[in-house]
Amino acid sequence: MDDDKVLTSSNSSDEAVKDRENQKLDDFTSTVVHDLQAPLRSLTMFTELLAQEYQDELDEKGLLYLDRISHSSLRMQTLVEDLLAFSRAGVGEQTWMKVDLNQTIELVKADLQSAIASTAAQITVNELPQILINPKDIHQLFQNLIENALKFCDRSPEISISVMAQGEEWLFMVEDNGIGIAPEFQSEIFEIFKRLYPADIYPGSGMGLAICQKIITRYDGTIWVESVVGKGSTFNFTIPINLCPQSPTAKIV
Ligand code: ADP
Repeated sequence: MDDDKVLTSSNSSDEAVKDRENQKLDDFTSTVVHDLQAPLRSLTMFTELLAQEYQDELDEKGLLYLDRISHSSLRMQTLVEDLLAFSRAGVGEQTWMKVDLNQTIELVKADLQSAIASTAAQITVNELPQILINPKDIHQLFQNLIENALKFCDRSPEISISVMAQGEEWLFMVEDNGIGIAPEFQSEIFEIFKRLYPADIYPGSGMGLAICQKIITRYDGTIWVESVVGKGSTFNFTIPINLCPQSPTAKIV
């Protein structure tokens, strides 16, 4: 066997082990998070009932405490849901198909319709390619990036989505005219739960970009941001042009 082949086969077995470990961790997270949902829902429900039925009997301090409990349980519910989305992103049944990314963007725009309308956002999209991929993953990736571009903006959002072929990869760019990100935070924001502002200023759980990173890693791509504070950000990600399913459970439809 020549060296190249040895290297390739040991790399792929390392990756298989890593994949299995990640899968176990995802399964564990998914189970824990799933089990947390029921008690959380009941906490939220009984807090609401307490507020509705005993409001008149509580003094100002009691009402304030109730408000804090209700606020925290709702926040906890969002975190738990997002953690579940993270553990499920890019895993599970891998159904690959030829996806027209222009259509994906139209679907994402429909999902984000109310945020687009309320911010009077302009979204321009250059002609995008068709790629073989799991449609759910690419939808989620664009959705998270566009949602952030709409959210982290202090004027009417102008978002531009484009692509170019670079060697053996597609380079996608989602550019905005938002608040920007200081250089020292530009890699940290892809970490799970990492946020730069309190949730009462910009709502969220700090999971969106961690999900994007997870999806992109699964497709052997990279994701990063270039940004100037006060001017805007460009989220770049790459996907191999000749992408093909690696996992034995993947199916092409
Ligand atoms: P969330 O949106 O729930 O806060 P994300 O993981 O999507 O979480 O983003 C992490 C952080 O990165 C955000 O809280 C924000 O501070 C920063 N960020 C993400 N996208 C943008 C953007 N387009 N412009 C400015 N800051 C951004």
